[in-house]
Amino acid sequence: MRDLDLIYELDIIYNEITIKEKELERLNNRLEINKTEEEKKRYIIELDNLNNLLNDKHSILRKKENELKDYKYKLNNLKDSYEKTNVKDTKQYEYFISSINNLENKIDLLESEILELMISEDKISNNIIRVKEKIKEISDEIVNLYDANYANVDILKKEIEALQKEVLEIRKKISISKLSEYEKIKYRKKRAVAEVKDKACTSCGMILPTSYIDFLKKSDDIIVCENCGSILYINKE
Ligand SMILES: [Zn+2]
Repeated sequence: MRDLDLIYELDIIYNEITIKEKELERLNNRLEINKTEEEKKRYIIELDNLNNLLNDKHSILRKKENELKDYKYKLNNLKDSYEKTNVKDTKQYEYFISSINNLENKIDLLESEILELMISEDKISNNIIRVKEKIKEISDEIVNLYDANYANVDILKKEIEALQKEVLEIRKKISISKLSEYEKIKYRKKRAVAEVKDKACTSCGMILPTSYIDFLKKSDDIIVCENCGSILYINKE
């Protein structure tokens, strides 16, 4: 094998490593996982808010229930004393009636307020259940994403390792001087080697003279494209 064949192979492997390293970097950034975790945080905040709201409603409900008890107790007392008192004049009678009416109205109002509070507590509780389910769903999704991510990271790392071993093996076979020439060009360009196909440099498309191509076929020297600086390579087979 000519040095040029080896350099051509080396360049392809370096390119594969670069592609895999970029993919690895992307996986390590875990964009999708971050997005899902943000979503989970938003639901947890919503759950906190709902729980606080439920607690608020509940303490209001307790207060109203106590008030109701209080009013009912007062109403009973009032009715008792009305029965026990020998009401003599209209004024006294009116006092009792209006007080009883007043209390009964308050009780009615409180009872409807309590009912409304209970309905709204129910709604909040249902929302809490919904949000908890959503959080569970997202948590499972995150676990799956992590699993998939780790599996892919593992595969990629092993592939890159294998390619790096190949690189070492190939480099050993190339003469030092050509290797250093290659590396100088590789340092400047993403792809250092360009194949010649249909008499043209595949990197920049420049057409090469036929005499030049015959020379390239015979040579094992590093010859670069005058236009783009790529190492020109012709497969002899
Ligand atoms: Zn070129």
